[in-house]
Amino acid sequence: MKVLVKAKAEVGLWQEDRPVPEIGPEDVLIKVKKTGICGTDIHIWNWDEWAARTVPVGLVTGHEFAGEIVAKGAQVQGLEIGQRCSGEGHLIGKLSRQSRAGKFHLDPATRGIGVNEPGAFAEYLRLPAFNVVPLPDSIDDEIGAILDPLGNAVHTALSFDLVGEDVLITGAGPIGIMAGAVARHVGARHVVITDVNPARLALAAEVADVTPVNVAQEDLRDVMARLKIVQGFDVGMEMSGNQQALDQMVEALVMGGRIAMLGIPPGKSPVDWSRIVFKAITIKGVYGREIFETWYKMIAMLENGLDVRKVITHRFKAGDFTTGFETMRSGLSGKVVLDWS
Ligand code: NAD
Ligand code: ZN
Repeated sequence: MKVLVKAKAEVGLWQEDRPVPEIGPEDVLIKVKKTGICGTDIHIWNWDEWAARTVPVGLVTGHEFAGEIVAKGAQVQGLEIGQRCSGEGHLIGKLSRQSRAGKFHLDPATRGIGVNEPGAFAEYLRLPAFNVVPLPDSIDDEIGAILDPLGNAVHTALSFDLVGEDVLITGAGPIGIMAGAVARHVGARHVVITDVNPARLALAAEVADVTPVNVAQEDLRDVMARLKIVQGFDVGMEMSGNQQALDQMVEALVMGGRIAMLGIPPGKSPVDWSRIVFKAITIKGVYGREIFETWYKMIAMLENGLDVRKVITHRFKAGDFTTGFETMRSGLSGKVVLDWS
């Protein structure tokens, strides 16, 4: 089968032929139809410090996918061949206290497909049946292929009650934009989304009913005054990984405001902790998706009218992956989807 491999410890990915994976008694084999290119894949492509430390050379990459079950192990129950599916790419251990309490997303032994284990940039993917998420007919393969990042957005957005609240999202990457759509869907009053990239802000306004703000040009306080946000935003979602964005968020929040933090700052970043203490702000770190509550909620919301399709701006054949990665690296795209069929 054709796969995309981190074949060398340098910039890029390489297409190779590999044997179709063998499956164990509790696994399924998935014929991959569509995959999304993630920011994580860009780190792996760029072979930055994190990637070099984390990803073994020779690994099949990719973790955002939709496909169809074509084989199943002897112990697999409740899944049939032909079932369309996506799936959770975090392979969890079952021995930790957190897992045994049903908090699978907090298992410390988690390993990621396409990061630590063979991934989904491949014609076939082996996945534990436990990780499979069946897709209803109403969710097509390209939306199925972006459920992983949509799940990051949903997990973050549902961290705090947003009904009637004013929400600030810093970072209009694909996940920030989808979080904006989710926040509006669940009843936030104003959703302001900031970035310094005009293309991303324009896309945000196209995808969701949000107020885009270019913080390189506009003062956030002016926007707040215009929207009659008097005391500050009630909830913040940090989705840029940028230190200045977090500082700006802390300043723009009400006393007692809450921050859900998905963005990953580079290394150790300075934080004005006394400001956070005196404003009595709660910060929640958000990792991955709740397994499987986030998946349940996001599929329900998609079936109930949540529409994020426009965040997919580019579609390429898997063989044209180099163009796909260049598009994603340009910063001018939303989600880029590769077609493996
Ligand atoms: P992305 O890199 O595509 O988007 C980040 C955006 O932030 C960019 O558009 C960038 O221009 C913008 N930005 C830069 N400086 C800014 C500033 N000062 N103010 C406002 N915006 C600014 O990332 P993404 O794929 O949308 O992911 C969002 C973040 O979430 C990233 O930091 C990513 O590493 C992280 N992430 C975390 C998890 C997790 O499990 N915690 C999962 C996926 C992604
Ligand atoms: Zn991803």
